[in-house]
Amino acid sequence: MEKKEIYVGVDLGGTTIKMGLISKIGELIFETEIPTRTKDGYQAIIDDIVQNVRKIASDFGLTWEQVKGMGMGIPGLLDIDAGIVRMAPNLKWKDLSIKQILENELLIPVKIENDANVAAIGEAWVGAGKGFKHVIMATIGTGIGGGIIVDGKILHGKNGMAAELGHIPISDKGIVCGCGNVGCLETVSSATGIIRMAKEVVAKEKDSILTERYKGKLDEITAKSVLDAAKEKDKEAMAIVKEAAYLLGKALATVANLFDPEIIIIGGGVSKAGNILFEPIREAFYQHGLKNIVKNVQIVPATLGNTAGIIGAAALFHV
Ligand SMILES: [Zn+2]
Repeated sequence: MEKKEIYVGVDLGGTTIKMGLISKIGELIFETEIPTRTKDGYQAIIDDIVQNVRKIASDFGLTWEQVKGMGMGIPGLLDIDAGIVRMAPNLKWKDLSIKQILENELLIPVKIENDANVAAIGEAWVGAGKGFKHVIMATIGTGIGGGIIVDGKILHGKNGMAAELGHIPISDKGIVCGCGNVGCLETVSSATGIIRMAKEVVAKEKDSILTERYKGKLDEITAKSVLDAAKEKDKEAMAIVKEAAYLLGKALATVANLFDPEIIIIGGGVSKAGNILFEPIREAFYQHGLKNIVKNVQIVPATLGNTAGIIGAAALFHV
């Protein structure tokens, strides 16, 4: 293992902070995870990051000179060039000069990036998008995050919020989204959307495995339980998954028409469902996209899993 040039990747979430040591060619050498002490204020989180980063480097036998930089994915509205978190509701951060604070403490260069973009950068560096210059990534979890890479560069936009795929409007009469608008893609195609549709099936006592298993236990329904029921060929569950996947595929066709990608990567917990999800995504995508654009676009599952965030954060120094 080449130890001369190591980068730290940090995936800062509202519940956990994932940290890793990554070589300059994208090998994940070490990873660890600590809880995010959101309640104790920003300084507690910064202290935890600084102490743990120094500790893992030292435990791994690195001198601090071998650590060349730290990248961090942050869920929120960022001023990337200035290194300032404008607003991160999950962390209760506002106008925090995180880059400067961490550089002063760690004495190494620090780069920040929106968390969904970081996952896309990681997948494009050494994951499913390796070798491609035009990559779109959608991460399907509680919501739907996105990252768009054109000519090898991630799109930021003014607020570092480009590629908010989850909030593409798909219906005027839909469900109210967490963002306040009505009918956003993630009200249907996220884990939250899938669970909501499953609850309707059970509440209406439709003939379904879901009703058998979750009648009176609506809070126990997860996206995985719906995907599992769909794999057992339950008609209602299959219809839910198809609806979620189809609308995602249609939205991705719009995104492809705008950005002309080579590959679309689907990540997040829901993406582990396999063909039951990917077939209707592809069907809608190829049907709705401009033929000359979409005909050669691959739609593939992400390969880095939970490590995309830390690897992508380190990749900020390489792409
Ligand atoms: Zn929305």
